[in-house]
Amino acid sequence: MILSFRKSASRECVESAVRRLAENGLNCQIVAGADNLVIVVTSPCEALPGHFFSHLEGVEKVVKLTARSPLAAESGCAVVQIGSPAGRGRIALGQGKEPVVIAGPCSVESREQILATAQAVKAAGAQVLRGGAFKPRTNPYDFQGLGLDGLKFMAEAGQASGMPVVSEVMDVRDIEAAEPYLDVFQVGARNMYNYDLLKELGRQTKPVLLKRGLSATIDELLQAAEYILVSGNLQVILCERGIRTYETRVRNTLDLSAVVVLKSLTALPVLVDPSHATGKRAYVRALSRAAIACGADGLIVEAHLEPERSISDAAQAIEPAVLKEIVDDAAVLSDALGKRDRTPSLPDLKLPVS
Ligand code: PEP
Ligand code: MN
Repeated sequence: MILSFRKSASRECVESAVRRLAENGLNCQIVAGADNLVIVVTSPCEALPGHFFSHLEGVEKVVKLTARSPLAAESGCAVVQIGSPAGRGRIALGQGKEPVVIAGPCSVESREQILATAQAVKAAGAQVLRGGAFKPRTNPYDFQGLGLDGLKFMAEAGQASGMPVVSEVMDVRDIEAAEPYLDVFQVGARNMYNYDLLKELGRQTKPVLLKRGLSATIDELLQAAEYILVSGNLQVILCERGIRTYETRVRNTLDLSAVVVLKSLTALPVLVDPSHATGKRAYVRALSRAAIACGADGLIVEAHLEPERSISDAAQAIEPAVLKEIVDDAAVLSDALGKRDRTPSLPDLKLPVS
């Protein structure tokens, strides 16, 4: 059950409701919504009458839960703000906003590489920089990433190019050290089921980009998002990155129906990663177009200055010129589909009425 409080309800009022619930043997959690406080009752509450909940002081709405991921369905941020104007730059991602293209190499390979790549992807029109420093590799002998040093290079590249940065954390123990150097925590596909990691990221104040597991259902993805949301962080970005099927011509199978289904079940922003979905650079542009056409709020794409020489995922890396085509396609498509936010970002000009 979710108890949604009036905007005017004070923290004390909500805490006193928590005490009343506890007196009646119910466990619950306070979650801060965009403009009000919400209590999620996590114990079964059938024993108590409905008016017990609706009569608690300050309660505006009582929602009985049938969904397994109620916060993802009702309370997540529809628009996630990435970065800060004082830092590496700020971008709004989600409902009604321009499609956001996040781009960069699979791995941060060196300081020089990420600094130069950041400038190139920015010039191609990307708004956010990606790059892995902690790399989840299938083979333990493969390059494992530069770790914290790589993240420091990312932060520098983001600062120099004016782009917020996204990077993966694989372990709860890395979160604190990584936090200052990134603007969005990425949870990789292999870690979608790492519930301790999800809970800890739920206690952070920066957004989380949550990738769908290789064999995860849409509902499992939403329940993974729920772990982050119920731990207090409502800024979750979902990402469809292809699932494992019997098909071998592509690295994974891009499940575009997941984008459509997710958009019908949650207001959270949904991204598509056409790079890991296909594993082949030749297919990345076409699937990027398809993703925007079916309602994705943006893309996360692997781009490299010398794609064939990428240390990891070379076969799927695209060059900046192709990235530019993808950014241009996304703008054209979202205009054609009437999805682009037309609210001016500068104060509206008052044109004389003729
Ligand atoms: C990545 O984005 O670098 C990555 C490892 O992706 P995924 O977790 O989707 O495989
Ligand atoms: Mn990769």
